[in-house]
Amino acid sequence: MYFAPRQAQTTLQCPHCPGKLQIARTCHEAYMRCPECGRRFPLQQFIARADDAMEHFLESLYVDRV
Ligand SMILES: [Zn+2]
Repeated sequence: MYFAPRQAQTTLQCPHCPGKLQIARTCHEAYMRCPECGRRFPLQQFIARADDAMEHFLESLYVDRV
């Protein structure tokens, strides 16, 4: 059985600290989180700046739902 990755490292800067954000998901939502300060952020505010890692992650998310 295939499982899409549950999280991926991105190159996006955390708004609160020098950390780089990760994109992660639960079974029904995706969000950004920072491994350095532990904050979570809504995905929507980062979509416009999505990097390759984010785009690949989101693609696998949609494939997973089909
Ligand atoms: Zn942070």
